[in-house]
Amino acid sequence: MATVTTQTSTTRDQTKERLMRAVAALSSDEGFRRWLRLRTTTGIGRYSLYNQLLIAYQKEDATQVAGYRAWQREGRQVKKGSKAIWVFAPIKKSWNEIDEEGNLRTHLQVNGFCCVPVFDISQTTGPKLPTYQISPKGNTMGSWLTRLQGYAATQGIMVEVKDTGSAEGFYSPADNLICLSERLDTDGMAHCLVHELIHATGIGYKDFTREAAEIITETAATIICAELGLSTIEESTFYVMAWAEGDIDKVLEHMRAADEIARRVEAGLGLNGARTSTPRPLA
Ligand SMILES: [Zn+2]
Repeated sequence: MATVTTQTSTTRDQTKERLMRAVAALSSDEGFRRWLRLRTTTGIGRYSLYNQLLIAYQKEDATQVAGYRAWQREGRQVKKGSKAIWVFAPIKKSWNEIDEEGNLRTHLQVNGFCCVPVFDISQTTGPKLPTYQISPKGNTMGSWLTRLQGYAATQGIMVEVKDTGSAEGFYSPADNLICLSERLDTDGMAHCLVHELIHATGIGYKDFTREAAEIITETAATIICAELGLSTIEESTFYVMAWAEGDIDKVLEHMRAADEIARRVEAGLGLNGARTSTPRPLA
């Protein structure tokens, strides 16, 4: 038994170390920096709800939008003849003033709104943009997937595999239901189920900010998946760093909470020394 415990803690430490090394490498990776910048400049989520509706109404398959010049700055050209998507932008006026105490103050005033044209990424051409995947591929985790579903059942949580749209999976607290995307491989499903089980068993949006919840959950999922014999380092690193907006400190800050919830879920799965089979070595 002592050997198993030592082995478990070694795998665990190795996983955390590998994740932190991967996180550090990704934070200085040029492709990832570019991906982050694109998300903040072209992500539809940064628009007001009203503008998001306007975008969807004019081009329902739009995924990333930006103005003509903004696309040019990213090295992309808007295709000739593309129909612009119109959104509202505030007309801002700013001016500086020295106050009575001699301090420089900047004033900002919104003087109404105007319509500005933006274009979806599909209406532009240019070099390939960096893409990342968040689910591991492969079909090696079949028996663990069944065991994870069994664990979910003991927690009163139903698991369904179906069309989940663009999401790989989600947890619905109101129905105590976890849905997994039918387009995932078995390994992707196991990874996603571990992630959603962590949300369901304590790391929800009620007690944490979305950012903290996602960083803690995916870090814990990486640790648990490694214990089950599935390496998700590459995918998890991207996911965690995307939520941390490239800031390693944010990941470090949540490491302890991630470790704690991982131990709790592992105990529920009968790991932590109660293991019946030897884990597969990390790939
Ligand atoms: Zn999540």
